[in-house]
Amino acid sequence: MSARRLVVANWKMYLAPSASADLAARIASALPAGVDVALAPSFGALERVGRLLAGGPVALAAQDVSPEREGAFTGEVSAASLKELGVAIGIVGHSERRQRHGESGALLAKKLERLVENGIAPLYCIGETRAERDGGRTVEILTAQLAALDGYSVPPPGFALAYEPVWAIGTGLAATPEMAAETHAALRRALGTRWGAEAAGSIRILYGGSVTAANASALFAQPGLDGGLVGGASLDADAFVAILRAAA
Ligand code: PEP
Repeated sequence: MSARRLVVANWKMYLAPSASADLAARIASALPAGVDVALAPSFGALERVGRLLAGGPVALAAQDVSPEREGAFTGEVSAASLKELGVAIGIVGHSERRQRHGESGALLAKKLERLVENGIAPLYCIGETRAERDGGRTVEILTAQLAALDGYSVPPPGFALAYEPVWAIGTGLAATPEMAAETHAALRRALGTRWGAEAAGSIRILYGGSVTAANASALFAQPGLDGGLVGGASLDADAFVAILRAAA
């Protein structure tokens, strides 16, 4: 496990630029020591939040990236643009994009490639549905989602994985700490098969899915939980800072 946990706020399509900057400032002013933190505002707020965070300890993250380098792709945002805006971490494969936008493993592999070639650390999200878990298919599904990494013989620089059970995202039904730890251990074994145990041991595997100030301590008490990807609770500065403290 990595020495410091990484906690990433995913603000989804909430908060206009001004509100995003206000929240970023509140979080940055109350930052506990001993934890790596990144904020992923919506695309429209990236520049404003990036200017506010520049030179400080909180990293700027993007929620998505185009699979293409540049060209006639209306509405897409390139990795090169994200880089110029100061984005250090790029989220790829969030279940809201897999499910609502039909993103396939092949497409996600291209997105990962765009991030890596622009020096942006990928945060790759995977997760099973309720039916898949109930059917005993969790590890099979997660392993299949890891196939988007097949192009890499070693982990891309800064690579991190987010285990986000789909049934736990935005539902208030977080995985139990034991369930999360068991799945993280299975994922670390799968990463070890892919890249070797030493490399797998140093990759941060984040848990995401209804992390709150109330459950964060119990989740982070588990071995192998190297951080969190936090949606709803990251929209409240006090709640998010409490989660950061639990992770520190
Ligand atoms: C997410 O969107 O990545 C997420 C984990 O959301 P929430 O914390 O609201 O479940």
